[in-house]
Parts: sequence; structure tokens; C-alpha cells
Amino acid sequence: MPTITGFKCVDKSGFPILCDAFGNNVAIRCPSCSTPILVIARKNQRGSDPTHVSTCVACKLRIWIKVYEKKRLLIVHQIKENLSAIDL
Ligand SMILES: [Zn+2]
Repeated sequence: MPTITGFKCVDKSGFPILCDAFGNNVAIRCPSCSTPILVIARKNQRGSDPTHVSTCVACKLRIWIKVYEKKRLLIVHQIKENLSAIDL
């Protein structure tokens, strides 16, 4: 995956989410409780895809990101606690 320095984060509806992206890493403000969540935008790393999620240490919300390199954008996907299905 590419470096994501300076990329912006939005949720799947396009609503901005505060984040700090540098290199292959991004700290994302948890959409549920505002605690920082670390995601690594490299294959098979935490938060890099629906099978390698990153979990909020405070509220246990699980997220992963999809990288849109040309738009310099990261789409933050949440996995709902009560569903086994992936929130795409
Ligand atoms: Zn949280």
C-alpha cells in the first residue's frame, strides 16, 4: 500500500473524521468515543481490511480503512458490535 501522509478520513457517508496520517500509519478519532485508534495501512496489518480490524481500546468499536490514493482519502468502515456481517 502507498504512504498515506496527509490523507483525510471520512466515514462511509463522506462525513469527515479527525485523523493524523503519517507514513503508513494513521491515528483516527474513534467515531463512537473519541479515543485515538491506530490503523496501519499495510497488507495484513491492524485496520487494513475487514479481516484485520483495529479495535478501540476504550469502547471496543472495530474499524478498518480503505485507501483511495488518487483522492488522498481514507474511508473509515465500522463493524457493528451486534452483527457478524461486515459493515461495507
Ligand atoms: Zn471508541
